[in-house]
Formats: sequence, structure tokens, C-alpha cells
Amino acid sequence: MPYDLTDFRAVVTGGSSGIGLATARLLLTCGARVAICGRDETRLENAHRSLVELGGSDRLMSVSCNVLEQEGIDRFVGQVEDRFGGLDILVNNAGQGRMSTFADTADQDWRDELDLKFFGVIRPTRGFLPLLQKSHAGAIVCVNSLLALQPEPHMVATSAARAGLLSLVHSLAIEFAPMNIRVNSILLGLVDSGQWRRRFENRDDPSLDWEAWCDQLASQKAIPLRRLGRPEEAAEAIVFLASPASAYTTGSSIDVSGGLARHVA
Ligand code: NDP
Repeated sequence: MPYDLTDFRAVVTGGSSGIGLATARLLLTCGARVAICGRDETRLENAHRSLVELGGSDRLMSVSCNVLEQEGIDRFVGQVEDRFGGLDILVNNAGQGRMSTFADTADQDWRDELDLKFFGVIRPTRGFLPLLQKSHAGAIVCVNSLLALQPEPHMVATSAARAGLLSLVHSLAIEFAPMNIRVNSILLGLVDSGQWRRRFENRDDPSLDWEAWCDQLASQKAIPLRRLGRPEEAAEAIVFLASPASAYTTGSSIDVSGGLARHVA
């Protein structure tokens, strides 16, 4: 057990797949009670089944909830309060990236992307804030991307939204510090997850298997560690920032990009 999180209560949005699922798994392993959400019921049930053996059903709850819908968030908050009696850790993870250049991004695409990246954090944060305020060690971790600092033209809307989210995390850290709630983020490069599996299914060259396709991707992107990250590696950074092991860190971020960051500061 890397950290002892017995008696901690955590919510992981988008906990039914990829990085969120790996984070829920690690939090349960550390002894926390964990609530996950996602939209797709089947994915959520599969995730619940895979997690239940780590925490038993008494330390785990799975709720169907779209983080962009206020009613769903209100219901989720109520269920967590009823079941866990409060909350210590909120991991804002739900979402996905959009691949498009400026030429390919229509007004509605911009709105959808900004909505997902901002309100996917704003709504759960606002909803769970009253519970986090009552915690002795409240922590919010936002899953962000290195695109926030290193924009890519083929992900123009996601890059702009990610930069905005990095700014938001910093503002929240300052505003919530007097409430003893820390707010941090992780900046991801390319991490093996449901998103990349779906892109693999639509690959140009069907002769490539998953391993070969990932090797080619890592090579094209010139990732210094020469591979995609594993969801468990992202989860390690998230749980560190969520735990009292990082008690004096707020408004900060951890790079989990295999060396992809080109800037020094
Ligand atoms: P996955 O597709 O594996 O997981 C995404 C999770 O988010 C799923 O559980 C999905 O469930 C859920 N989700 C998506 N939209 C919503 C929504 N509106 N409301 C509730 N749940 C939602 O991808 P990742 O693990 O890669 O993604 C996790 C986060 O990491 C995302 O924010 C992504 O943008 C970010 N990220 C990932 C990178 C990578 O290389 N993997 C790089 C940079 C950032 P469902 O669809 O059933 O709702």
C-alpha cells in the first residue's frame, strides 16, 4: 500500500475506464472508499465488477452520471453524502480529447470542447465543495494534458481548453486554500487508455497490431522514454497529489509525459 488512505472518501469522475479506473483501483488498494461515475452503464458495470474484489461492495459505489448535467451531479453528490457521509478527495478525470485543426473546428465543436473541459471540472467541483470543506484533508486533482503548456495544431481546441484549465486549477488553489482544500493537476502526454484503444481501432494501417501501433506512435511523437504511459503510472501521480503525502503542495502540477515536455520551467 503506497499510502494509507483508510477513512478517506474519494470520487473519481470517469472512473469506468483508462486512467480513472486505474486511479479508483489504486485508491481502493490504499484503503479509501471510492465512488466512480461514467455515462455508459455497461462500461460502469464492468468497471464495478473488476473493482469490487479490491474493496468489496461496501467500499465502492458506481453511479451513472454525465458530469456536464447538473441534475446528474446533484444526484451523485447526494448519493455520496448518504453512503460515505462526506468527501475528502475529488479526482476530476472524465473526458476525452478532440483531434482537429483550426480549419476543421466549427463553432459548435469549440463550444462542445470548452464545455467539456471547463464544466467537466466546474460542475463536480461546485457540487462536491460543501462536502470537501468539511474534510480535514480535502484535495482536488484535475487530470490535464501537457497540451496546456505545449499546444499541438492538430488538437487546437483541446490545447486551448487545457491551457484554460491549468489557469483555473491555479485560481481554485488560491481560493480554496483557506478552506484547507488543495487543488493540483497532472499533465499527461500519451497514456494507454480507452481513447487510444478507440483510435487504434480506426488506424490507417490494419496490419499493425496494438504493440506495433504504439511503438510507431511513440516514435512519431519522439517520446524520450519511447513508449506510451500506462494508466497505473498516471494513477500514481494522481493519488500522490490526492494524499497527505503532498500536504504542502497546491496550485501545482506533475508531468506524466515520458519526457515529452520541451520547456524548462
Ligand atoms: P478513457 O476513454 O479510457 O476514459 C474516459 C472516462 O471518462 C470514461 O470512464 C468515460 O466513460 C468518462 N467520461 C467521458 N465523458 C464523460 C462525461 N461527460 N461524464 C462522465 N464521464 C465521462 O480515456 P482516458 O483514461 O485517456 O481519459 C481520462 C482523462 O485523461 C480525460 O480527461 C482525457 O482527456 C485525459 N487525457 C488523456 C490522455 C491520454 O493519452 N490517455 C492525454 C491527455 C489527457 P463514459 O464514456 O462511459 O462516460
